Amino acid sequence: MAYAYDSENIFAKILRGEIPNDTVLESEHTLAFRDIHPQAPEHVLVIPKGPYVTHDHFANEASDAEIVDFTRTYGRVCDLLGVSPGDGGGGFRSIANAGQDGVQEVPHFHMHILGGRPLGRMLQPG
Ligand code: AMP
Repeated sequence: MAYAYDSENIFAKILRGEIPNDTVLESEHTLAFRDIHPQAPEHVLVIPKGPYVTHDHFANEASDAEIVDFTRTYGRVCDLLGVSPGDGGGGFRSIANAGQDGVQEVPHFHMHILGGRPLGRMLQPG
């Protein structure tokens, strides 16, 4: 795997404290914060603190501790937002865009969590 991480991307700057963020939850290896341009009433980004570009990069190269921490934090964020159908919430969508075809703007792996309204079908045509 040959991912090159750009340490000047905006989420790297957030992790270094150079840019403010609206934190929802922070753990040892993970940060969750509100998207600056929300596409739904609830729109949170969950990111690992390590230098991973995409979800596959993270899945293949992160440590077990980072992966467990990310997954548990993601679950806790869903609980905090009240969107989990398991707790009577209305549901949500998780999206991790990657690369050119995925239209990824920020080259630091992030999982979008969107909820709080009906989100329509998964993909738009074309
Ligand atoms: P993506 O297209 O999946 O790379 O999405 C990048 C997301 O990052 C977009 O939804 C942006 O609104 C969001 N974003 C960009 N800059 C910031 C920032 N400083 N704080 C929070 N969210 C941001």
